Amino acid sequence: MAGVLAGCQPQDRTSSPTAMKTNEPSLAATNTPTVVKTDEEWRRLLTPEQYRVLREAGTERPFGPAYEEFKKQGTGTYVCGGCGVELFSSKEKFDSHCGWPSFYDPANAKNVTTRDDSTLGMKRTEVLCAQCGGHLGHVFKGEGYPTPTDQRYCINGVSLKFVPANETNKAKAGP
Ligand SMILES: [Zn+2]
Repeated sequence: MAGVLAGCQPQDRTSSPTAMKTNEPSLAATNTPTVVKTDEEWRRLLTPEQYRVLREAGTERPFGPAYEEFKKQGTGTYVCGGCGVELFSSKEKFDSHCGWPSFYDPANAKNVTTRDDSTLGMKRTEVLCAQCGGHLGHVFKGEGYPTPTDQRYCINGVSLKFVPANETNKAKAGP
């Protein structure tokens, strides 16, 4: 019988010289997201509207359903809709009548980062989640609101998830 397959010879190439070393240029040392997911993972995780805002820097329409919800929410914490890290709290929430959730300060500044944004022919400061890099909205200064910082973190409601205070404080129930 001729032609017996002579295959199945393991072709190990262990002798290849120095494995290629990819010296990636160090990405910006600061503000590098620690939660990194593929596009596909984000699409699975987020609603289409959340994906459009958080991952594509979109803007929800003003006075939308997320804003209506926001106005009704009481004491609690606002966490990132993408990765769940604490971003804002109801203590810094104020009514700016602009149609989007507004805060005058982040609850935990290290989780919120900013960068210059000159899209749409405007000079604005974009607000992002420091942990996953998700787009949250923009921050405006000096508009004259009677708040301690005179800043307005104008945040898309769909970028946030509200955690009511009575859920976070459960562990601290009294004697
Ligand atoms: Zn995040």
